[in-house]
Amino acid sequence: MGAKRVVVIGGGIAGLAAAYRVKKLVPGVELTLVETERRLGGKILTDRVDGFVVEGGPDTFVSYKTAGIGLCRELGIEDRLHGTNKEVRGSFVMRKGRLYEMPEGLTGLIPSKFGPMATTGLISPLGKLRMGLDLFVPAKRDGEDETLAEFVRRRLGGELYERLIEPLMSGIYAGDGEELSLGATFPQLRQSELEHGSLVAGMFATKKKNREAARKAAEAEKAARASTNPAMAAGAPLPARKQWPAFVTPETGLAEIVEALAKTFEAKELLLGTKARRVERLGAEWVVEIEGGEALRCDALVLATPSHGAAPLVRGIDSAMADALAAIPHASTATLTVAYRESDLPKPLNAYGYVIPKREGRAVLATTWTSTKFPHRAPAGYVLIRSFIGRAGNDAGIQLSDEELLRMVKEEQRDVLGITAEPLLYRLFRWPLAMPQYTKGHLGRLSTIEGRTSAWPGLALAGNAYRGIGLPDCIASGEGAAKSVASYLAN
Ligand SMILES: Cc1cc2nc3c(=O)[nH]c(=O)nc-3n(C[C@H](O)[C@H](O)[C@H](O)COP(=O)(O)OP(=O)(O)OC[C@H]3O[C@@H](n4cnc5c(N)ncnc54)[C@H](O)[C@@H]3O)c2cc1C
Repeated sequence: MGAKRVVVIGGGIAGLAAAYRVKKLVPGVELTLVETERRLGGKILTDRVDGFVVEGGPDTFVSYKTAGIGLCRELGIEDRLHGTNKEVRGSFVMRKGRLYEMPEGLTGLIPSKFGPMATTGLISPLGKLRMGLDLFVPAKRDGEDETLAEFVRRRLGGELYERLIEPLMSGIYAGDGEELSLGATFPQLRQSELEHGSLVAGMFATKKKNREAARKAAEAEKAARASTNPAMAAGAPLPARKQWPAFVTPETGLAEIVEALAKTFEAKELLLGTKARRVERLGAEWVVEIEGGEALRCDALVLATPSHGAAPLVRGIDSAMADALAAIPHASTATLTVAYRESDLPKPLNAYGYVIPKREGRAVLATTWTSTKFPHRAPAGYVLIRSFIGRAGNDAGIQLSDEELLRMVKEEQRDVLGITAEPLLYRLFRWPLAMPQYTKGHLGRLSTIEGRTSAWPGLALAGNAYRGIGLPDCIASGEGAAKSVASYLAN
């Protein structure tokens, strides 16, 4: 039997992770990664300019989902990761043009600390009382999905949703909470309601469970060490395990991960600047038609393009799958980063940035004070500020010309931060149809897509359109696709 042949279509992080893992899992595999662009990385795009590190797309990833850190460790770049600035913390939320401190403890979107919520000026006394009603609102047990907005309004009230949860959530999905499915975006919140009757009760139960788990883990670690090293059991400090901050990123940008992955492939395995047009099943083979070249034949196939790019690829063989893929909506967004001299700023950027609720009616969605959040991103004495423009249902902002967008962002920075200086440089990145929206009905679409995919031998899907849009989710989806392909080939 000859070597197994695998084609991966799409060279974003999901496709790269899939291709990397296929090489590890399928001995002697003949791999081809097909990518439309002449570069790898997809939405990961780092511009290193004059000592600044400007991220066009993602700029960090969460450490608690282990696929991100795990891949960096395997690639030998874990020690390149930096956490967010420990000296300065926090961020702001805009209300009526003014910045309010974001109350601490908003892990998992829902307030988890009583003190900061009780004292914040962002929520009125009546709004705070309404939040307390969470303890008495009966759980919804009809098994129907609802939108994120419906859920938060029902449990905690409209004020909390509009002033805090909506802008936080749109910072993640560039999405509209009135459309996003609770079950597909924050299933743990529904779970908490069902298990504990209220979010507040769920929060206390989780805290207790976490404390108990931490105590047990510490005891287990101590016992394990006692068996090999009695000195440690006698009270000497245990060697510290690496504790990652919640958000991490490589020193010179996320492109470091793409570069490290790229090094693991041979030149002949990468077909860059090549668009896949359609896929077909002929006998026991997959045939991938590509633009301007001879079709590729393979035993297994990973589609790691955005879902709106996968739909036309499979339409000829499976219209039900293509329809479900095409039905996942996507929002367009853009990022605009500007650099200033620190001395040009009327006041220091003493937080990670701010988010802007939809009802403020601004085209900018959120602004990150990048060089405060990650000080290594700008040379000493300079600052980097990055604004997000465009959200689901409103992409008017990103239709503007470069000059108009820059003018808009400068006006925003003059109004909010009092900056009147001209930026030393600016970098604009437009991302059309980049952010998949897990709207109500997503889980149904997903079950059609996954059901259809598994009916095709040796076919797997990966990418941000399905079960998580963050980088660790995309890496995990690529690795999952590789495992499914490897197990198909092994049998
Ligand atoms: C502005 C922005 C900020 C973000 N910030 C963060 C963040 O801070 N942290 C975080 O975790 N996530 C963030 N995200 C989300 C995250 O970046 C994406 O979800 C993730 O990078 C998507 O990876 P992917 O491989 O699924 O898709 P993509 O990166 O879109 O890769 C798909 C690839 O497929 C290629 N392709 C498409 N069609 C074809 C075809 N027919 N033939 C060949 N190739 C094809 C495309 O050219 C592309 O390279 C952000 C996203 C954006 C847009």
